[in-house]
Amino acid sequence: MYRTHTCGELTLADAGKNVTLCGWVQKSRDLGGMTFVDLRDRYGITQLVFNLETNSVLCGQARKLGREYVIQASGVVRERSNKNLKIPTGEVEIEVEELKVLNRSEIPPFTIEEDTDGGEELRMRYRYLDLRRGSVKNNIILRHNVAREVRTYMDSIGFVEVETPVLIKSTPEGARDFVVPSRMQPGTFYALPQSPQTLKQLLMVAGFDRYFQIVKCFRDEDLRADRQPEFTQIDCEMSFVERDDILETFEGLARFLFKKIKGIEFPGQFTRLPYAEAMEFYGSDKPDLRFGMKIADLTSVVRGHGFGVFDTADYIGGICAPGCSEYSRKQTDELTEFVRKPQIGAKGLVYLKYGADGSLKSSADKFYSPEDLKLWVERAGARPGDLLLILAGEKKKTLAALSELRLEMGGRLGLRKKDVFAPLWVVDFPLLEWDEETSRFYAMHHPFTSPNPDDLNLMETDPGKVRANAYDLVINGVEIGGGSVRIHSEDVQKLMFKVLGFSDDEAKEQFGFLLNAFRYGAPPHAGIAFGFDRWVAMFGGQDSIRDFIAFPKNNSGRDVMLDTPAEISQKQLDELNILFRKKDQDRK
Ligand code: ASP
Repeated sequence: MYRTHTCGELTLADAGKNVTLCGWVQKSRDLGGMTFVDLRDRYGITQLVFNLETNSVLCGQARKLGREYVIQASGVVRERSNKNLKIPTGEVEIEVEELKVLNRSEIPPFTIEEDTDGGEELRMRYRYLDLRRGSVKNNIILRHNVAREVRTYMDSIGFVEVETPVLIKSTPEGARDFVVPSRMQPGTFYALPQSPQTLKQLLMVAGFDRYFQIVKCFRDEDLRADRQPEFTQIDCEMSFVERDDILETFEGLARFLFKKIKGIEFPGQFTRLPYAEAMEFYGSDKPDLRFGMKIADLTSVVRGHGFGVFDTADYIGGICAPGCSEYSRKQTDELTEFVRKPQIGAKGLVYLKYGADGSLKSSADKFYSPEDLKLWVERAGARPGDLLLILAGEKKKTLAALSELRLEMGGRLGLRKKDVFAPLWVVDFPLLEWDEETSRFYAMHHPFTSPNPDDLNLMETDPGKVRANAYDLVINGVEIGGGSVRIHSEDVQKLMFKVLGFSDDEAKEQFGFLLNAFRYGAPPHAGIAFGFDRWVAMFGGQDSIRDFIAFPKNNSGRDVMLDTPAEISQKQLDELNILFRKKDQDRK
């Protein structure tokens, strides 16, 4: 037997016991006649002590132990004189009687401690060492716990987990596919699923009724902190349901996870916010509702006073930052700089300081009388002490910029707390999105999303106005999940393809298997998928999903540990019948 206990479990109640522990040497220090070693495993850290006087040979061995050596130590549990009450095992130590080095370690490239000296790149290259650090390890264990609770809940309400293939045909989630060349059928390719969308719909045709899967999805897009080329979804689909059945079922999942993982319960139903209102009042389809600061439309009260910036603008909107009326010039300059950043894109910022004493001072004073400014205050719903921040321009862009400014102010005012959660459903998304570049409509969600039945008559006359029967679960400004009621009628599906500019042949070519299946009795169905990595990261109180994935890729999609993507051998290329166009330049 390698060990009797783990390094995380011995306490004073075990004093006097003979035990054997295994683990890694976190660090060792010599103090006079004693050598202390912190022994670490997955469960915790236990202190080992070697006494030079009573066992000089053993103590000599201990002094030769290097960082990250793997050892086995046997001895007696003793009460410690110098206790460390910060860790559960901190009241005891093991007086070692036998020591065995199970394996040596080279000096690790960075210190394996919370406060590591290793930078991101180095830690990722040696991710297996990084994973020995408590916080990273705990993230992975949190991920496991969330997955377990998802399965418990879904099973408890009759969902069946079904695995779907990874080598498939392209799925319509709007990103680029990763593709895999076929050896047996040269010149053809599999696509990796952007999601199991079509397959879960086929499972509904198959009669599975309630399906879910914790599943890997692959999208070849540009990466950000909350995106990875391969990521995990909790993918779900149900038959014989309407939108509200889905919202209720999965609000149930959200509540269950919050309760089990964070111990948080939410009173009442989650807010349901129509997309149009989300855009109008928050400038975003994923509003952070941990704080107010709604956007107010000031267009009609500020236009027409000779102030060019406002008079020529399509839309003028503002937010009230509470308690900021005393902002200094430097602070308002900073905000102006913020909104002018290329990614925010505003031309400038106009402010109105509504002093706690009722005074009104604006950066556009020249053009407005105090009475005019009072109207601004009224329209914006400002209170004494507020700083009203105003942007003007093309409506969509200005709302987007106001959304960023709102988030910035929320952050500055400490209103975006990591341990506060504001979940909501955004509903009634538009069905279609117009793309200027290609001059055509695209499905905002995917082409199987059902139009809102009330808007069906607009499909051919004014497609841009059609609302989808689609919904997103948004928490703290993050889209945690999204889905829709699906089209199950052949006629509506045909109409949708027509509006999207697919010919019958193109639709058949890409989705023939699904359209065929729909001819054999497709039940009404609907579904949703949640970004599992994002949800776990949110529970862990962090923005980056990378720290919650055991072996993530970097911002250029590289796995720096495996050193991939990498070239493959000529033999493999030959087997696949692949010839590079610029072979000589691209490959040595
Ligand atoms: N397949 C969709 C997605 O990955 C989710 C859904 O409609 O169920 O976003």
